[in-house]
Amino acid sequence: MIKGLRCRECGREFPAKALFVCEYCFGSLEVDYDYSSIGRQMTRQSIESRPRNIWRYRELLPIDGEPTVGFNTGMTPFFRADRLAKELGLKELYIKDDSVCHPTLSFKDRVVCVALSRARELGFDTVACASTGNLANAVSALSAQAGFKRFIFIPADLEMGKVVGSLIFHPRLIAVEGNYDEVNRLCAEIAARHRWAFVNINIRPYYAEGSKTYGFEVAEQMGWKAPRHIVVPAASGSLLVKIWKGFKEFHKLGLIEKPHTRLYAAQAEGCAPIVTAIVENSDIIKPVRPKTIAKSLAIGNPADGYYAADAIRETQGWGAAVSDSEIVEAIKLLGETEGVFTETAGGVTLAAARKLIEQKRIPRDESIVICITGHGLKTQEAVVDHIGKPIKIKPTLSSFEEAVGDK
Ligand SMILES: *Cc1c(COP(=O)(O)O)cnc(C)c1O
Ligand SMILES: [Zn+2]
Repeated sequence: MIKGLRCRECGREFPAKALFVCEYCFGSLEVDYDYSSIGRQMTRQSIESRPRNIWRYRELLPIDGEPTVGFNTGMTPFFRADRLAKELGLKELYIKDDSVCHPTLSFKDRVVCVALSRARELGFDTVACASTGNLANAVSALSAQAGFKRFIFIPADLEMGKVVGSLIFHPRLIAVEGNYDEVNRLCAEIAARHRWAFVNINIRPYYAEGSKTYGFEVAEQMGWKAPRHIVVPAASGSLLVKIWKGFKEFHKLGLIEKPHTRLYAAQAEGCAPIVTAIVENSDIIKPVRPKTIAKSLAIGNPADGYYAADAIRETQGWGAAVSDSEIVEAIKLLGETEGVFTETAGGVTLAAARKLIEQKRIPRDESIVICITGHGLKTQEAVVDHIGKPIKIKPTLSSFEEAVGDK
């Protein structure tokens, strides 16, 4: 039930078309809903009775008619991580695991299902994106399923898993010799010339709303309440902003009590513009040139950085930046304690959570959610030299006993 688009800065209203900046003040546009009529239709019971995908929250998603893609996306695992909690000395720790999101194993499947359903309603036949990797995979796969023509733009130095994970769906995959911020700038120019739905440019207001479903699910899966603390990986900062928006919307509709959640941004030391602004208590997000193994988070000039920092301050959260070796250690720790193989972004999140706990920014005895957002098979390069090797033996019992037998 979209009411329209609204400027985040001056509040002016716009029709719900493929618009993304305010023509008066250049502020970014956000989707506005008719909450009073949504409130009558969305109850805990009505939501629980619906299929287990992102569209169970459809009144709070930006489409007018029926969704056209994403019927297997969402409702990913959420579980108590007691072995990891013990390792970190925590009482109540949860993992929200989008490393197994359908169909391309990252939370980007959520945002793309929403973007493509809206792109179809707006009459587009071609979709495109500027991506740090996971978005490329999600747009490639879901636009194949939905029957769009597709152009995918990535930095040329992405991991093999992300390249293969796009090419297999046969998009036009354009590898740009530059970093994500350069890819994004180029795409903004292309978007001005071609009538394509660039999911994270001209239809960004709709796309970004898809991230709320991650927060909605956390609240529903916790038993209709928000956690005290949630640690979120930040690239553009959009996921963090939208998780918070999702909690506030659930409260507005009476689905949960007033959330007392604190939000924490997790970034890599080699690309931490949002964390830097938080730690230095600055209103300005200073762009950086990324250098980190966490390529999915390597956005040096984050589009929603300002709003992410704002949400963090509003909730009295904080942020932490972690080194490449801390990322690798955290990926291994998550695997060894919880059997979850995450990509580098998940390593950033766990390592940042660990740091925030050690700094006593997050207390050990309250509920904490760690956001795992992508699968480790996509970033094997990051860990392959740090996990040992298989034990090679001949196909004989004696060879086995010699190699591993306990003598
Ligand atoms: C894109 C991405 C993020 C962060 O997304 P933003 O909304 O741009 O902050 C986090 N984790 C993974 C795995 C991603 O691909
Ligand atoms: Zn404006």
